[in-house]
Amino acid sequence: MPLHIGISGGSVGGLFAATQLARHGHRVTLFERSPHGLGGRGAGLVIQQPVLDLLQREGLQDLAGHGVWAEQRLYLDDRGNVIGREPRRQMQVSWDVLFAAFRGRIGDADYHPGVRVEDVEENRQHVLVRCSDGSRHRVDLLIGADGQASRVRRGVDTRLGAEGQPGYAGYVAWRGLLPERALPPVAANQLLERMAFHFAPQRQALGYLVPGAQGELAPGQRRYNWVWYRHLAPAALARLMADAGREGALSLGPGQVPAAWAARLRADAARGLPPSFAAVVQADPRPFMQPIHDYATPQMVHGRVALLGDAAFIARPHTAMGVAKAAADAMALGDALAGIEPAGVATALLAYEQQRLQAGRAIVAYGQRLGESMA
Ligand SMILES: Cc1cc2nc3c(=O)[nH]c(=O)nc-3n(C[C@H](O)[C@H](O)[C@H](O)COP(=O)(O)OP(=O)(O)OC[C@H]3O[C@@H](n4cnc5c(N)ncnc54)[C@H](O)[C@@H]3O)c2cc1C
Repeated sequence: MPLHIGISGGSVGGLFAATQLARHGHRVTLFERSPHGLGGRGAGLVIQQPVLDLLQREGLQDLAGHGVWAEQRLYLDDRGNVIGREPRRQMQVSWDVLFAAFRGRIGDADYHPGVRVEDVEENRQHVLVRCSDGSRHRVDLLIGADGQASRVRRGVDTRLGAEGQPGYAGYVAWRGLLPERALPPVAANQLLERMAFHFAPQRQALGYLVPGAQGELAPGQRRYNWVWYRHLAPAALARLMADAGREGALSLGPGQVPAAWAARLRADAARGLPPSFAAVVQADPRPFMQPIHDYATPQMVHGRVALLGDAAFIARPHTAMGVAKAAADAMALGDALAGIEPAGVATALLAYEQQRLQAGRAIVAYGQRLGESMA
């Protein structure tokens, strides 16, 4: 008898899981709190082996070729001098294209946008899920694919209190996505077609081209993705979130950064970054901001509830492994639940955990090492 599986979170992790579970005949129901759909909000990502494997399983391998190539890596000092150059081809594909392909695999009747999972109650036979629209769903198991601020996590990681959240690492990633044509010449000449890096104590910056908002790959239609990691004391972060009217939120999206903070960022860029990177930051009218968090769940499974993707482990973005980790989790989960009847769910989930727990911990630790210079 196929299982009925609830999934909290309809981003890539939830969709990856849904496709892997549906291919074994299970019925999936996804709840996604965002009412407007997630398309059009992503940037680029480096395709790693687990994503390739997942695309292969789904017959979507052509997507892996739909990206923008960087031909080399460039390392810059404070003044913009090139202090290292490495021939290394690397492709960035569009998060939106990946999301749309997997969203297209799930019928609208099984994907509920604008519905937040609010409460989870579990017993030996099933899980009762209560949602923000007042609906209640009885499922054989629930997957928490609800990201960094996961609601489902609280039922699995018993160390967390009711409001438990991941720990702040003491620095943030300021980011932006600038149309390629908006890059000032000093930036375009040095940075285009390359993956560029700047490393200094308590400061890292990087940038690379990604496809356009609709997946465009032609020169002139792509976007430049920049990231500037900067130290920000917890009290200053709290002030920023308060100034933005976003206390309690995990990040600030484009247009949510208060004008005074954005102005300070641009002024600081001139003093603290190589000229090409500074020019990019100064040309960007809508920077956004993501505080860096660490989180590793001590267990991925509690009875009939399991965590996946960022809900289970938050890997610092230096690793560029968030999507790959979610893909590997989803494949392991699908394999563990293949042919499983309701009575075998708890055991199958433990097999899933056994396969993915160490990998999740290792990726979190790797991210912390890459961010060590920010301390
Ligand atoms: C809009 C968007 C764009 C992104 N763009 C990129 C990108 O360009 N490059 C990149 O490398 N990574 C990107 N990411 C992050 C990347 O998807 C994750 O780091 C990684 O793939 C793990 O995915 P995830 O599904 O576990 O978590 P996430 O992608 O963070 O998804 C979690 C989802 O759960 C939903 N959710 C949260 N709480 C609830 C609840 N209580 N009930 C129901 N739903 C809930 C959220 O709205 C969100 O859609 C993006 C994420 C989002 C949401």
